[in-house]
Amino acid sequence: KPARPVVTRFAPSPTGFLHIGGARTALFNWLYARGRDGTFLLRIEDTDRERSTPEATQAILDGLRWLGLDWDGDAISQFDRAERHRECALQLLEAGAAYRCWSSKEEIDAAREQAKAEGRPPLFQSPWRDRDDGDLSQPHVIRLKAPREGEVSVEDAVQGKVTWKASQMDDLILLRSDGTPVYMLAVVVDDHDMGVTHVIRGDDHLTNAARQGLIYKGLGWEVPVFAHIPLIHGPDGAKLSKRHGALGIEAYRDMGYLPEALRNYLARLGWAHGDDEFFTSEQAIAWFDLPQINKAAARIDFAKMEHLNGLH
Ligand code: GLU
Repeated sequence: KPARPVVTRFAPSPTGFLHIGGARTALFNWLYARGRDGTFLLRIEDTDRERSTPEATQAILDGLRWLGLDWDGDAISQFDRAERHRECALQLLEAGAAYRCWSSKEEIDAAREQAKAEGRPPLFQSPWRDRDDGDLSQPHVIRLKAPREGEVSVEDAVQGKVTWKASQMDDLILLRSDGTPVYMLAVVVDDHDMGVTHVIRGDDHLTNAARQGLIYKGLGWEVPVFAHIPLIHGPDGAKLSKRHGALGIEAYRDMGYLPEALRNYLARLGWAHGDDEFFTSEQAIAWFDLPQINKAAARIDFAKMEHLNGLH
């Protein structure tokens, strides 16, 4: 089977500025695609209508442009694709990989409590999983049928094979009772439809990948290569946040950083090419690959970053 042409994507949620972690994720995806004659796509994950703002979308586009991370084609809005996501939920139903569930919140809570009392993981096992005699006119959700036995695993290009017990997974809701698709379904459908071959993103999404893998299988689609990169940590070893003084990318622009210098620094946050400290864009594109991504979290060094600003 011929290998598919490489397609990567950056899929930020427009709920705030483009931060260092997001910029690094975008950069890795861009480097991987550009080094392989591939395509780098941008998808704005704006399904959370309360928290997504046009200002945040604009800040992300501006930040990427300033860093020189050009994407191919137009940015795609995930929200605009809701109809297609719904269609795929129904396809999963037809394939027997999903079911309609009429359980109320009270029933679900009670089942969870009981599981806990019996010393089982507090998962809800729907009585509707093997029934189809519910009243379609009544509010209900569509759930994915997760395996009840055995294991679920993800082959990850950075983390290796990661395995979960099936008993740790519940039957994920795909379509809410108001008909809106959940994020987990939207990601899979969009990545598939966009032809994404490599999903490079923060390892806070690793568990999601296991569930996304089940959705791919249910739809009969090829699972992309997953590469989950460890999150960036602050100098104290805790997950990088504003508390550490980490700023949005536009702040570095406003302070006069050169985009190439910041990009060089970001490329080396969790990836390295021998002991090389500085390289050109062409070198980074030629050298970047997934096996050299660190399994351990990279620590940011603000002093070094400040030094970058004095280089020109
Ligand atoms: N929208 C997600 C985020 O900003 C990324 C999802 C993904 O890359 O699959 O964390």
